[in-house]
Amino acid sequence: MARVRLDHLRKVYDNGYVGVADADFEIAHGELLVLVGPSGCGKSTLLRMVAGLESITSGTLTIGERVVNDVSPRDRDIAMVFQNYALYPHMSVADNLAFGLKLRGTARAEVERRVAEASAMLDLDRLLPLKPAQLSGGQRQRVALGRALVRKPAVFLLDEPLSNLDAKLRLSTRVEIAKLHRDLDATMIYVTHDQIEAMTLGHRIVVMNEGRIQQIDTPMRLYERP
Ligand code: ADP
Ligand code: ADP
Repeated sequence: MARVRLDHLRKVYDNGYVGVADADFEIAHGELLVLVGPSGCGKSTLLRMVAGLESITSGTLTIGERVVNDVSPRDRDIAMVFQNYALYPHMSVADNLAFGLKLRGTARAEVERRVAEASAMLDLDRLLPLKPAQLSGGQRQRVALGRALVRKPAVFLLDEPLSNLDAKLRLSTRVEIAKLHRDLDATMIYVTHDQIEAMTLGHRIVVMNEGRIQQIDTPMRLYERP
């Protein structure tokens, strides 16, 4: 069961700036939790602490049953999807999908099986031999999703995954993410500053402002309150 528990997580940057003041909540197994708030409010900082890309100043982070404060990103049961896709430009789509697994020493047959599975789920078969530069923005983001998917992580972290896409692709990719979430029974933390995305995707929404958690509630209660 991959719940994620944030116990009074705090991030103070080296220059003294408080990126996240005191994040204290839990994401249930299978939940899709959306983090919203204005630019600079600390959403990425929070997500990066969960990913292990940013050190935790104080507090305790638990993924599943394990305290992971000092566990490297690679050894956390997570995969992250970045806003700018973060694909490896010199590698084909197939190699981009396989890379994280190979790095972890996954057996070749298993790598091939998982790449084929992710490719089928995200309709990437035709793209497998191509390089990222040959893809549209929407295709790149599907590859980025595929790269997270092949790892079969317990927890997916998505940092504004749609913000570089045009309106039409935003809609179709959003639907794709919702479907993946249903099919995988995965726990997801999804960062956005888009209220529509938050309302349509989130089971619960965390509203941040200036490093603080202001509200945590369901979309209904958050946005339909008089
Ligand atoms: P968001 O994702 O909500 O836009 P961030 O988490 O990226 O916000 O940033 C939160 C705040 O922390 C911002 O004011 C940002 O300038 C600051 N910040 C981010 N990284 C650093 C850093 N390495 N050193 C100092 N301040 C930082
Ligand atoms: P992959 O994400 O391909 O499976 P890893 O997770 O082993 O590779 O990567 C090691 C670390 O580098 C992780 O913290 C991961 O989140 C981060 N990372 C991987 N690719 C990028 C990238 N292109 N840009 C920024 N960080 C990345």
